[in-house]
Amino acid sequence: MVKRWVKNIEKLTETFSKIKSYYFPRWDVKNQWRVSLFKNKFLSGYCDFPKKTIWISTRKFENSINRGYINGIYVLLIHEITHAVVREPRSTDHGVKFRMRLQQAANKAKLLGYTDLANDLELDINQCISLGDY
Ligand SMILES: [Zn+2]
Repeated sequence: MVKRWVKNIEKLTETFSKIKSYYFPRWDVKNQWRVSLFKNKFLSGYCDFPKKTIWISTRKFENSINRGYINGIYVLLIHEITHAVVREPRSTDHGVKFRMRLQQAANKAKLLGYTDLANDLELDINQCISLGDY
């Protein structure tokens, strides 16, 4: 159990660094932010400013790995890092600035040839709009 958790954290940290360098090269250059796992039935991820931590739910992480759908974790990490970068007045807001920054990441994914990821990010942007969080 503990061994699996350590393995998951290692994999997640590796993915976090990769996402940072590809999509947010100018953010957190001092490496103050970290990523970790948490247990939650309802939330998939959470951007925690006071602790400078991106929390990813264990359930979401393991589901994505088991389904071979790593993009699910990429989208979630990009989404939560965007909260850290944009800093909306409320940490749950998905305003115009937030969606524009997410679109920027989608464009970068397209440029890198990750078309599926770009599409998933655009779906996420549309979901933010349809939820009415703006
Ligand atoms: Zn959000």
